[in-house]
Amino acid sequence: MVSIEEAQRIIIRHTTLLPPEKVSLLQGLGRVAGEDIHAPYDIPAVDNSAMDGYAFSHAELKRNCLTVSGFLPAGGQRTVPVPPGEAVKIMTGAPMPPGCDTVVPIEETEAAGDVIRLIGVVKPGSHIRKRGDDIHAGDKAIAAGTLLRPQEIGMLASMGKTDLLAHRRPRVGVLATGDELLEPGAALLPGKIIDSNSYSIAAQVLEAGGEPLMLGIATDDQGSTRQKILSGLQADLLISTGGVSVGDKDYVKEAIVELGGEIKFWKVNMKPGKPIAFAVLDGKPVFALPGNPVAAMVAFEMFVRPALLRMMGHPGIFRPTVRAALTEPVKNRRERPHLVRVIVEALQEGYIVTTTGNQCSACLSSLTTGNGLLRLAPGADFAPGDAVDVFLLDRGFEMGTTWNWAD
Ligand code: AMP
Ligand code: MG
Repeated sequence: MVSIEEAQRIIIRHTTLLPPEKVSLLQGLGRVAGEDIHAPYDIPAVDNSAMDGYAFSHAELKRNCLTVSGFLPAGGQRTVPVPPGEAVKIMTGAPMPPGCDTVVPIEETEAAGDVIRLIGVVKPGSHIRKRGDDIHAGDKAIAAGTLLRPQEIGMLASMGKTDLLAHRRPRVGVLATGDELLEPGAALLPGKIIDSNSYSIAAQVLEAGGEPLMLGIATDDQGSTRQKILSGLQADLLISTGGVSVGDKDYVKEAIVELGGEIKFWKVNMKPGKPIAFAVLDGKPVFALPGNPVAAMVAFEMFVRPALLRMMGHPGIFRPTVRAALTEPVKNRRERPHLVRVIVEALQEGYIVTTTGNQCSACLSSLTTGNGLLRLAPGADFAPGDAVDVFLLDRGFEMGTTWNWAD
């Protein structure tokens, strides 16, 4: 049996970065750049107006009045210099016309016919976006290893890029094991249950940025388990659930070894999720997760997700934690670290955390009602108000409180 950290170290040692591939701009979202990208030109390419207003030469301004002698929309261009003492009506983004160095916003002027008067003081050079203000030609705009968020996608587009090299998404084989399992939608028969793990795990894969390959259900015999695992080797990484404990019909480890795989560890000192095996088979990481639905999902969180993020080149591979005040007493009477499912809430005063109640490792409701995990060391004994670190599981977890519809 290994500790959680030891297991994570072993897994990271056996996961490698997937190579980059060329993807179109929007396909890059959520992936990690596989190349440095330099700006091909200055952005903005020329000095331009930051406001809808009037462009003029500040040195030529007399008695705060200007005669408007032209119009310059965004997308337009003027090559003829604006005569001294005159102004051109200019729209946001239009290139500064020759002979002008300042823009006064429309709101700061009064117009009478084709003459405008500046209401307040306008400093020379005001309201101009200078060439290269955003990025200079040749600057490294996106570094290899950067996670591509919407803002990076926009930046790439502004540089005229239509595609880029980004690390591949891992294809992940998802296999359920058990004679008791039926596909969702099938009529429930005595002694049978629905295979929920394939779907919760595939959803976790998708959420982490991987591409699940549904392998279906292996029955509890060596042949079926082996054959399903073999078919999963077309993926980059394989996840099975169930059949990895000490039961009479637990064949997963055996099948991995028979196929030439090497078990790197079996059993992790944690609850839920102890009966987990990690192996390398055909050079690919194989995670044999526990069958209990909560144990499988928690084990995915702790071990598979970091591996997937690492394969995709993500800079951070672990969930963020926040420090939160407990709303109730919490104790770990066991000798194993306990990953308690919790509800984290952001209040004005800070985060608070409450357990989701029943912590049985087969009860998915202990996860559906929560959004975090609290790791309790053996013997931990906390009182209400004590501060603890909690992993945030929800990508969409927001600092804000819910919208008050009454407002
Ligand atoms: P096992 O480790 O195979 O003995 O499974 C432990 C528990 O998890 C048993 O109660 C199984 O019925 C349940 N289980 C195993 N696989 C799944 C699955 N794919 N979906 C839902 N429950 C499962
Ligand atoms: Mg089983």
